[in-house]
Amino acid sequence: MSGVKRGTTIFTGRPFVFVLGSKHRTTRCDNCLRSGKLSKCSGCQYVYYCDRNCQRESWRIHKAECAHLDKVSPRVLPDAARLMARIILKLNRGGADEAGYYTEKSFRKFKDLMSHYSDIKADAKRQVHFTTLYGVLLQFLGEANMPNVAELMGIYGRMCTNSFNILDVNMNTIGVGIYLGASVMDHSCRPNAVAVFEGTTIVVRTVTDLPSLDWSQIRISYVDLLNSNKDRREELHSSYYFWCDCERCKSEEPMAEAAACPSSSCDSPCSVEADECGKCGARISEEFKQTFREVVDFTAHHLEKMKTMAYLDVSKICLKKQKGVMHKFNIQHVRTLEMAHIAAMNLECWEDAEFYGNELVPGYLMYYGEIHPLTGLLYLTTGKIQLHLGKPKEGLRALNKASAVLTITHGNKHSLVQEELRPLLYQAAMESSGDTHGV
Ligand SMILES: [Zn+2]
Ligand SMILES: [Zn+2]
Ligand SMILES: [Zn+2]
Ligand SMILES: [Zn+2]
Repeated sequence: MSGVKRGTTIFTGRPFVFVLGSKHRTTRCDNCLRSGKLSKCSGCQYVYYCDRNCQRESWRIHKAECAHLDKVSPRVLPDAARLMARIILKLNRGGADEAGYYTEKSFRKFKDLMSHYSDIKADAKRQVHFTTLYGVLLQFLGEANMPNVAELMGIYGRMCTNSFNILDVNMNTIGVGIYLGASVMDHSCRPNAVAVFEGTTIVVRTVTDLPSLDWSQIRISYVDLLNSNKDRREELHSSYYFWCDCERCKSEEPMAEAAACPSSSCDSPCSVEADECGKCGARISEEFKQTFREVVDFTAHHLEKMKTMAYLDVSKICLKKQKGVMHKFNIQHVRTLEMAHIAAMNLECWEDAEFYGNELVPGYLMYYGEIHPLTGLLYLTTGKIQLHLGKPKEGLRALNKASAVLTITHGNKHSLVQEELRPLLYQAAMESSGDTHGV
């Protein structure tokens, strides 16, 4: 066998159970997660579907929910409670025998998923969450359908540590699901595979060439890679109960929290714990250190506030303060550029959106890597904006870069490539050759 090339689909699977995020309840179909014209379920008046087909497909699992949704107070059922209810209902009806195959012969059943029972029991935060969920579920499902507490905690642990966020084509979370076969994959902060979605179907693709398909060596990332070693390790530990020891975590990332060198002609990352730049010897004054710490606090404060909504003016103020003070690969700086880019797009300030999109590329390449869905999407968005601004040559260049990435991460058959990238590439090619058919 001649190995597995990057850009190979190594796993495709339907969810064991999934739920649409309640934030999207009125804008996406509860069954296929597509947005569009929807109608309400006449039973519960709570969930929405595209059409009768989607409603029928969903009925097997929704039937049990439909009559009970109004029993719950507050009326919005938390996503975790709904997902857990669906797991319980499914297990009560023979779901324990369902096998998720990841090779012709290897499979996992729900009970094969790690429950982290003792970790969950010792985790105060999760115990509080569990107690809340227990109350909601009891009200929702009724005593007769409830497993005993120990069993329920096992289900809860499996759910917490094996869920996948279901992403739309723009990599935004729209739901959450359990994928039995896919849960065999471990984590790395420098993964050799990525998971993308087509509706609720998970598709796992390789992003590096591999000598062979050895499932014990396949790694995806469980967390956002645009975070420092310390932050990723802490998140992985508190959510998944392991201390990451991957290649990236073991190597130093001096630029992630670095100051810029006080000498403007030097691009070396500097630490404010030191008194001079390790590369050029420029002195790092007390005043400079003080300014750096102020900018870090100021930026942290505003990034936190922008978690729900990105603001262009706020981002610009942060960026202005960061100039000459924060290193260009400081993660706070990259995050601020990301906020500026998103906010500019929301406001349809296309010049700004293009500018910040380009500024963001080096940071994405550094932390997400060259072959990552988000890097590909950034090129795609930038190219699209450039076409809109009447810059077809620049647009074509960006879209070709998007194509080089997305054909690996998503593949030629994915709707993102077929329905978004292809038409834009065609348009860019036409417009940059001047052949616009007189339009
Ligand atoms: Zn649908
Ligand atoms: Zn209903
Ligand atoms: Zn790691
Ligand atoms: Zn220097």
